[in-house]
Amino acid sequence: KSDLVMVYHRLPYEETIEDGHLVRRRPASPNGIIPTLLSFFGDGKKGSWIAWAIKDPKKGASFVTHTEVDTKKYPRLVAARVPLTKNDVDIFYKRFSKEAFWPTLHTFWERARFREEDWLVFLKVNRLFAERTAAESAEGAVVWLHDYNLWMVPAYLRELRPDLKIAFFHHTYFPSADVFNVLPWRREIVGSLLQCDYIGFHIPRQVENFVDVARGVAPLKVLETHACAPRYLTYGCAVGLDEVTTAIEVHGRRIGLGAHPVGLDVDRVRQALNDPKTAGRIAALRNQFADTRIILSVERLDYTKGTLEKLVAFEKLLETHPELQGTISLINVCVPAAKEMTIYRTLQNQIEQAAGRINGRFSRVGWTPLQFFFRAIPFEELVAYYAAADVMWITPLRDGLNLVAKEFVAVQGLTNGSGVLVLSEFAGAAAELHGAVLTNPHDPHDLVEKCVYALAMSQVEAEARLRGLFDVVQHNDVHRWGQDFLDSVEESCAARTAAP
Ligand code: UDP
Repeated sequence: KSDLVMVYHRLPYEETIEDGHLVRRRPASPNGIIPTLLSFFGDGKKGSWIAWAIKDPKKGASFVTHTEVDTKKYPRLVAARVPLTKNDVDIFYKRFSKEAFWPTLHTFWERARFREEDWLVFLKVNRLFAERTAAESAEGAVVWLHDYNLWMVPAYLRELRPDLKIAFFHHTYFPSADVFNVLPWRREIVGSLLQCDYIGFHIPRQVENFVDVARGVAPLKVLETHACAPRYLTYGCAVGLDEVTTAIEVHGRRIGLGAHPVGLDVDRVRQALNDPKTAGRIAALRNQFADTRIILSVERLDYTKGTLEKLVAFEKLLETHPELQGTISLINVCVPAAKEMTIYRTLQNQIEQAAGRINGRFSRVGWTPLQFFFRAIPFEELVAYYAAADVMWITPLRDGLNLVAKEFVAVQGLTNGSGVLVLSEFAGAAAELHGAVLTNPHDPHDLVEKCVYALAMSQVEAEARLRGLFDVVQHNDVHRWGQDFLDSVEESCAARTAAP
């Protein structure tokens, strides 16, 4: 039994069943958070990682409940697998979570589709996760649940194991009550979250949004508030706030709350930069773009990322600043969504059309303004793009945090660069990354203006901004994030025990 139980919707590696055997693969879709979470087991800590795995009755493969993750790096960590059918996964993860919850969480509620029959599958899957977690956890263990796919686990788990310290970290944006309350199952979801001992979000704004939502569901008393660290005092920024609630009481239960923006594993970035191939890759990129300055964008294909808005702005920029034609190139890396996720197809078509139109209108011999890649680039190669870029243009319409922004800062900081970060003020990271040029991606004029401002920035200003940004990224790294989160869970549980 484990003292630390990580409950994440997916395994820390990709696997398929071939001829009745499990075959491991490198994760197909990039995810910055998994290596981060694994790092908590790097010191030989005993633990379990709960995740779903597909049971495949047709091929007759017997289902393996426990697997090792990586015996060299994490000797005492096992993956405890929750058996789901492919149909369950398709509904729970690929359809329901992405069609009902994801749009609502990111304030695109008008795109959301709510199906009662899918909710029942969601409940079933969450129940299975709770049962597996209850079976893996030692007495009084800390259970760290991740993200909205597992919203209903706390309710089931509290019933099965009242002794556990249940902590939940919300990785996506958490919207205001006006938006969240459109969810038909909001009472059940919030009621479940209120069974936690501690709930973490990236930034204070998301904590306060949760408090408002919870207040609408149950009588709630605010027990503690804290002034935010100076880094959150971003007046004028969409996600800035100066005070945050750190504990509430609902039906006599204390629930700790906190803002914990996920950080980077700066050593992982350093290692990727030190890879012997990296210097060559950076040189090749600089050579390829010797005559132009590089504007870089890196994102997943998703309407929340503002890719289309950015391309439209780029077209406007080339139109209204003809003097920049031939002097800049936009490299846009966009990781495609899984084929089954039909909701992304239309968006991909629209993006492809916009990209074709821009290059059709403005390309000339020896210069193509836009290089658009619909594919995932391994992190080890991505660092070369970050290093070669002059301006990083990150434009989500809404984003829980945005790790790409931090990765760019880390790479530029480690390579003594002076690249400029232009960041949407609707990304959680904007509340933390002072020194970024903030932009409003809902305003095409502002997108153009801030990009042009970044391109024209003096070396002195760019270096000063980057120094400040790099300090934040280095200081609030992933280890601090995890330790702060786990310390806050323990402190909050201790405060409850101590309360009269
Ligand atoms: N990423 C990658 N290859 C790519 C594009 C992105 O490895 O081609 C990684 C990137 O390094 C980052 C993660 O994907 O760690 C994206 O995280 P972010 O928080 O920016 O956005 P999310 O996709 O989680 O919404």
